[in-house]
Amino acid sequence: MTARVVQKFGGSSVADAEKLRKVARKVQARRAQGCELVVVVSAMGDTTDELLGLARQLSADPPRRELDMLLSCGERISMALLSMALQELGVPAVSFTGSQSGIITDESHAQARIVEVKPTRIVEALGQGKVVIVAGYQGVSRSKEVTTLGRGGSDTSAVALAAALGADCEIYSDVDGVFSADPRVVPEARKRESLSFEEMQELASAGAKVLNAQAVEFAREAGITIHALSTHVAGTGTRIEALAAGLGVKGVTAEKELWVLEVREGLAEVLAFLDERAVKPRALLGSPGAHLVLVPLHDVHGPEALSAALTERFRGALAVRHALGTVTCVGTGLNASFTVLRGALEDAAALGAPVAGHSLTSLQLTLVVPREHLGALTQRLHRRFVG
Ligand code: ASP
Ligand code: MG
Repeated sequence: MTARVVQKFGGSSVADAEKLRKVARKVQARRAQGCELVVVVSAMGDTTDELLGLARQLSADPPRRELDMLLSCGERISMALLSMALQELGVPAVSFTGSQSGIITDESHAQARIVEVKPTRIVEALGQGKVVIVAGYQGVSRSKEVTTLGRGGSDTSAVALAAALGADCEIYSDVDGVFSADPRVVPEARKRESLSFEEMQELASAGAKVLNAQAVEFAREAGITIHALSTHVAGTGTRIEALAAGLGVKGVTAEKELWVLEVREGLAEVLAFLDERAVKPRALLGSPGAHLVLVPLHDVHGPEALSAALTERFRGALAVRHALGTVTCVGTGLNASFTVLRGALEDAAALGAPVAGHSLTSLQLTLVVPREHLGALTQRLHRRFVG
C-alpha cells in the first residue's frame, strides 16, 4: 500500500498568498516522492484572533454556537486557497471542511472533543489521486452543528486524521521542532530530538505554544508519533513518541494567559460553577489558607463576564488574581529527590519573586509567581537545570 502522510501547516506558514504558494510547492515535492497526502491547514496568520475581536465588539460573552460558525470560516479560507494554489501547479487537489472530512465531535461548542473520524470522502479522493486539503480546528456534532476544537486545535485535527488513516503525522511551524525553552526568552535554548508523549503534554499544558496539549493526548492514546518540523528549513525537528524518557528537566516554559482563582472556602461549589460553564482548569494547587485553581484563558471567550459572575457569586470566599503566571520545569523523575524543588525555590527567592503556590510531580514542577518575574525566572531555571 502507498504510504500515507498527514501534514499540518500552522497559521504563520499560510499567512499570505506567497506563503500559501510556498506550502503548495512543498506539498507538490512531497507528493512527487509517491505518497498519499492529506494537508491540514490553520487559519491564515492572525485571522482567528481578528474574528474573535469582531465577535467581542458585538458581544461580551458571545453565544458559543455562533462563535463556532464564525471561527470555522478562518480555516475554510486557507483550505480553499491552498487547493487553488496546488491546482495552479498542476497537482490535483480538493478541499474539505471538518464536517466533509468526517470529523465527528461532541456537542461542546468552542472546545469540542473529537469522538470519531469517518474519513470516507478523504479516502475516496485519495484513491482518485488527489491531495486532500482539510480545514483544521473544526468538526461536526451528531446533531449536525459545526463545532471548533479549542485554540490550537488544528494539531488535533491532524493527529486524529493520521490515526484514522493509518498515516504518519507531520506538524509544520516556524520553528524546527520543540526547544528546551522559548528561544525568544532563553537564547541558549536547545532543540530536543525527541520527547515522550507525557513530557510534551506537560509542556503544552504549561504554556509551550508549539503543539496543542489535546493533540498530544490523542497521539498518545492512538500511539501515533508526531514529527514537529519547520516549514522553512530542512531540519530534523522533534519526534514526540512513546519513549522510555531519560531522567531530568527537558524544558522550561512560562504561562501568563491564565487566572489564578484563590479559593478560601467552598471549593466544591466553585468547581461546580466552573464545570457548569465548561471552564476547564489546568491544575488545582494547595497553598497556605487557600486552594489555587489555575484557569487557562485561551478558551475562555467572555472573561470579563466570567470574572464578574465569580466575584458576585462567591464574594469574600474567592479572589480572581489576574497578575500571576506560572513557570514550569518539565521532564521525567523530577520528584526523585527535592533537588529540583529546592533549586527552583532558591532561584525564585534570589529574584525576589514571591511564590504564591507550587506543585511537584514526576513530570513537572510549577511555581506560581507574579507575571513580571516570568521571563527572568525561566532564564534562571533553564540555566540551572538545562545548562
Ligand atoms: N486557527 C485556530 C487558532 O488560532 C486553530 C489553530 O490554529 O490550530 O487557534
Ligand atoms: Mg491560528
